[in-house]
Amino acid sequence: MGIKENFEKFLKNIPDNVKLVAVTKTKPNENILEAYKAGYKIFGENKVQELVDKQESLPGDIEWHMIGHLQRNKVKYIADFITLIHGVDSFKLLKAINKEAIKVNRIISCLLQFHIAKEQSKFGLSYGEAVEFLDSEEYKALKNVQIEGVMGMATFTEDENVVRSEFRELNHIFNQLKQDFFQDDSRFKEISMGMSGDYRIALEEGATIIRIGSLLFGHRN
Ligand SMILES: *Cc1c(COP(=O)(O)O)cnc(C)c1O
Repeated sequence: MGIKENFEKFLKNIPDNVKLVAVTKTKPNENILEAYKAGYKIFGENKVQELVDKQESLPGDIEWHMIGHLQRNKVKYIADFITLIHGVDSFKLLKAINKEAIKVNRIISCLLQFHIAKEQSKFGLSYGEAVEFLDSEEYKALKNVQIEGVMGMATFTEDENVVRSEFRELNHIFNQLKQDFFQDDSRFKEISMGMSGDYRIALEEGATIIRIGSLLFGHRN
């Protein structure tokens, strides 16, 4: 089956109000153009260099999402075009994004990444760390970032119960933050969770954005 057919089949099976970020990392521009020509325009990358290269050579109306770990000194390369940064895992990074957003006169949309998995290797904030900076005057003074929700990655395991409980935890964190910090902010509404292997569980647990690569573009090497 071709990429176009993969998209059609996949989109038919997810609710209309869920946003699909098609993850294009390691895939060549021809693959992305195939999806683009079929009408699909929201793509995600996890490395800055690859993201910048693709953004420069592909059509300008593509909506690019940064889904991977982002180093502070690299924010400047994506600040003028990025649609959503999913992996904000420290206050220092949020401040760096704000600083670069000012330079390009934009308000950059971000998600706070939480560490919900058992693995140490995955990045993310704890709930306490997030609360600490969201309560601060320093955070309230940041005018060029807009926090639109939360993001997380579940443990890589066959055990569905583990995955489900981690997604449920992220949903709980979202609701708590909404209540305590974003009650009057209608833009705080996104829960980005679920990949090719676990998106069904993520949808059941309230995902509003799913990030899918291999199911659409085939396996990566
Ligand atoms: C690669 C990646 C995905 C997509 O993974 P698939 O298993 O190919 O769907 C989703 N989110 C992040 C953060 C990724 O790095």
